[in-house]
Amino acid sequence: MKHTYLTSDQKVDLILEVAKKELDLLSDIDYENGYSLYIGIPFCPTTCLYCSFTSFPISQWEKRMNDYLEALFKEMEFTARRMAGKTLDTVYIGGGTPTSLSAEHLEKLILRLKNTFDFTTVKEFTVEAGRPDSITQEKLEVLKKYGVTRISINPQTMKEETLKIIGRRHTVEMVKDRFLLARSLGFDNINMDLIIGLPGEDMEDVRRTMEEIKSLGPDGITVHTLAIKRAARLNMYKEQYGDLKITGTQEMVDLTAAYAHSMGQEPYYLYRQKNMAGNFENVGYSAPGKACIYNILIMEEKQTIAACGAGTTTKVVFPSENRLERVENVKDVEQYIARIDEMIKRKEKMLAKSEM
Ligand code: SF4
Repeated sequence: MKHTYLTSDQKVDLILEVAKKELDLLSDIDYENGYSLYIGIPFCPTTCLYCSFTSFPISQWEKRMNDYLEALFKEMEFTARRMAGKTLDTVYIGGGTPTSLSAEHLEKLILRLKNTFDFTTVKEFTVEAGRPDSITQEKLEVLKKYGVTRISINPQTMKEETLKIIGRRHTVEMVKDRFLLARSLGFDNINMDLIIGLPGEDMEDVRRTMEEIKSLGPDGITVHTLAIKRAARLNMYKEQYGDLKITGTQEMVDLTAAYAHSMGQEPYYLYRQKNMAGNFENVGYSAPGKACIYNILIMEEKQTIAACGAGTTTKVVFPSENRLERVENVKDVEQYIARIDEMIKRKEKMLAKSEM
């Protein structure tokens, strides 16, 4: 990497550290007969200004949520039948923000999920509780009741002003409150996502955010650098926030790494997005025993990941040929519901191919 890509010593060291950790964490994962499952809930309380995921405001769909869930259950049932005999290693409910569902819908979803798939071999069960403004005690109790092992509560920053600018519609106080609530309910693996290079934020802001995070003591942090494509979308709102600079620097990245280490966390996965600002990467850190295997699998593409839901992508691995193929579901929720049989057929075709 040093000679071909002119990678700095610092990055080579980081990559080697992560690679060793990944090898260790994946040592008992079966690439041939195992698989992971992703369930997509493409709804959020509101849309953050930098969002590039499939996400629709929950208010538009609340009344029709049962229609979405019925289509999703149909796809889940097909997937469980098709993957029968294989070992389910990890389960991840993401989005969007799954906790933007009501407690009743969340329970309906997880109950059905557990009755449809064999969870006896599942090593980790993650639910993105991403937006603090979507979290209630009732919802956390549902997650706890059904054995969710890891959740993510994502502040992105602990600067109030920035939260307003990026349209998160939650406060710093709310982040702390929901985090402590989750802890009090017994969640012992909580990740927090952060973004470097948010509009107007400088080194001092990052330091203050990291101090706040450290005082909460999460089990993992995932540090993202604002991607240019997202920043570009932010630019459309320039009138709202004036001429705030969007600057992510290596010093900021290094500062988050130093804080992660001071919290007893080590890097265990990293990836680069297209169009990322600067020469940075997104890095996931965790305390010992708290890494998210699914995060590694989705990046390293070593195991088939069956995905259900609007805007999700199933990745089918062909281990003997050392390659993978993708099959994508439509992003539009209306279309997903109307064309669910077509989505299932596409998936069937791809999965059948992997067995030829
Ligand atoms: S919480 Fe995540 S998925 Fe939802 S709108 Fe914000 S960035 Fe997008």
